[in-house]
Amino acid sequence: MAKLSERASDDEIRAAAKTILAARYVMALTGAGMSVESGIPPFRGPGGLWTKYGEPPMNGYQIFLADPKKAWEERLSKRNDELYKPLSIAKPNPGHVALVDLEQLGVLRFVITQNVDDLHRQAGQKALAEIHGNWTLIRCLNCRTRFHGDAISLEKLPPACPRCGGLLKSDTVSFGEPIPIDVLNVCAENSAKADLVIVAGTSASVYPAAGFALEVKERGGIMIEVNLYESEITQICDFSLRGGSAEVLPRLVMAIAEIRREALS
Ligand SMILES: [Zn+2]
Repeated sequence: MAKLSERASDDEIRAAAKTILAARYVMALTGAGMSVESGIPPFRGPGGLWTKYGEPPMNGYQIFLADPKKAWEERLSKRNDELYKPLSIAKPNPGHVALVDLEQLGVLRFVITQNVDDLHRQAGQKALAEIHGNWTLIRCLNCRTRFHGDAISLEKLPPACPRCGGLLKSDTVSFGEPIPIDVLNVCAENSAKADLVIVAGTSASVYPAAGFALEVKERGGIMIEVNLYESEITQICDFSLRGGSAEVLPRLVMAIAEIRREALS
């Protein structure tokens, strides 16, 4: 793991805040680091769920399609496992709340998250794409409608779409499963407009999510990293704010509010 460097100074935060205020269209890409700060264990790395229980099969989607009934039965039998428990009790942290604040201030226009934990929604984020899906939702593989888990009867497996009768699957994108095209499209539309991207709690190394952030930078936009650790993208970032999202993002919100107040007085 990369070394933990000194936390972002007030000057660094203020400089980043000024740059954010000068941008036209601000987007954020968030990842596992934000979930970890809400008590959800990461998948990879020390203490990671996959490190402990083994990686899920790389062809999980094909396994699902081959026998959806069996896949659903397995999923339901695992509901109370260590994999699902932390997700079911996790709450948004101050980092999630800060991104909602930025949206409400009219500063942040769109969030792409790699997290499936539902916490951005629970915090109240409106303009959001969950690129790897949302574990509380069930998606129709035919018409792509999402349903809340509680809204679908699981008495008969696999469940069928109430709208079109299509096969239903957890919205969480499995290994081997294409990212749903509606999500990809909205990510592409927004990253094409963005001239600044805040990358929080992720090293932006998992594609295609990373590509949407890197594209902003490649087009000459600004990239601001918020991360406890140096990452693969630290070198290309215009600002690299060291610290957890739950600490740094609220400081950014405060700095932005302060700069706006000063401009009015
Ligand atoms: Zn359907």
